[in-house]
Amino acid sequence: MNPLEMVQSQIKSALEKMDLDPIVYHLLKEPKRFYEYTFPVRMDDGSIKIFKGFRSQHNDALGPNKGGLRFHQDVTADEVKALSAWMTFKCSVVGLPYGGGKGGVVVDPRDLSRRELEKVSRGWMRAFHNEIGQFKDIPAPDVNTNPQVMAWMIDEANTITSKNQGGHLTGKPVELGGSLGRTEATGYGVSFMVRKAAEKINLNLKGSTTVVQGFGNVGSYAAELLQSWGSKVIAVSDVYGSIYKEDGIDIPALMEFVAKGNKVSDFPGVEVKDRDAVFTTKCDIFLPCALENSITKENAHVIDCKIISEGANGPTTPEADKILLDNGIFVIPDVLANAGGVTVSYFEWSQNLYGHYWSKEMVLEEEEQIMVRAFDEIVNLMEKENIKDMRQAAFMHSIKKIASVMKLRGWY
Ligand code: GLU
Repeated sequence: MNPLEMVQSQIKSALEKMDLDPIVYHLLKEPKRFYEYTFPVRMDDGSIKIFKGFRSQHNDALGPNKGGLRFHQDVTADEVKALSAWMTFKCSVVGLPYGGGKGGVVVDPRDLSRRELEKVSRGWMRAFHNEIGQFKDIPAPDVNTNPQVMAWMIDEANTITSKNQGGHLTGKPVELGGSLGRTEATGYGVSFMVRKAAEKINLNLKGSTTVVQGFGNVGSYAAELLQSWGSKVIAVSDVYGSIYKEDGIDIPALMEFVAKGNKVSDFPGVEVKDRDAVFTTKCDIFLPCALENSITKENAHVIDCKIISEGANGPTTPEADKILLDNGIFVIPDVLANAGGVTVSYFEWSQNLYGHYWSKEMVLEEEEQIMVRAFDEIVNLMEKENIKDMRQAAFMHSIKKIASVMKLRGWY
């Protein structure tokens, strides 16, 4: 399903339950600004390659646009637009003073040398520097980008503007003004939300079973934290395949193995299965931490679990949502479940603006508090309005705030 249509259908579903001016839908259904630029890069073999980059600024009513940048061969304009909209709702769900942004480059980073990756990163910043800034639009890592990419980009921005502004980008390396805890933040947040949902449905995490689809930055840290609380992580997948072990996979060891550039399916001492076997593995907790459109009407009915915490953005299509709901699965929607990353990005940005840095304990404690408060507020709304679907309630909670600020600003 086209991700932009997906988010539009989610907005509609929330608005059905709200008494708002219909113009609110039109203000939210598309980004306020969208940029598409191409930029040339000289490759290692001397040839020139033209890359296509995007940046979408969905809505800046609540504050500067905020959101990641992904490097992926399948990046499209509509995908980036949808992802920027999810960022708007995500920031509002957890109460951050940001609007939503997202960007990307159409590239398979596996085809690039390290030097070419640096040039693509700097090239994106050269092309887009007029559109971004610490009070305008603040990028961060997303799929296939990392603190090193952010370091090259901020160096390029600082050079172009002749200003050493740390708040230009977040997800930077700690030595370069990044925040302690940012690397773990998204994955840990996914698990903080699992713990809250488990309390609600009386599931004991000790001895529970977890399955993780996608073992990048989000899936790996989410699995690590859940395992440290006593959950057995019985299956994990990456783009190449999946692995299974009945008494639990050693997650810190798998993280170390994958960090060396290995595939999940080459990990020793486990059963190797095809990539989609994770969907049919019965478990208590299922974590989709890959890309959009992972849980669809084709596979939603085979998922046998109690809790889904969405580490990825947009992993579940609206049709699949209905199936999961009918099957009584507690789905913690992406705009809440993976909001830990942008929450700690906000801490990073404020630390940069203040020039005063926090301990890792303080970062993670504040992150959890913010997410737990949002979880409780959404659950209260569900109980008050008799709403079964947590995504619908999260969108309502989020849109209420954005609509009221747009009204104050005189946008309608
Ligand atoms: N890319 C992450 C997300 O989708 C983080 C965004 C940020 O830190 O600004 O939430």
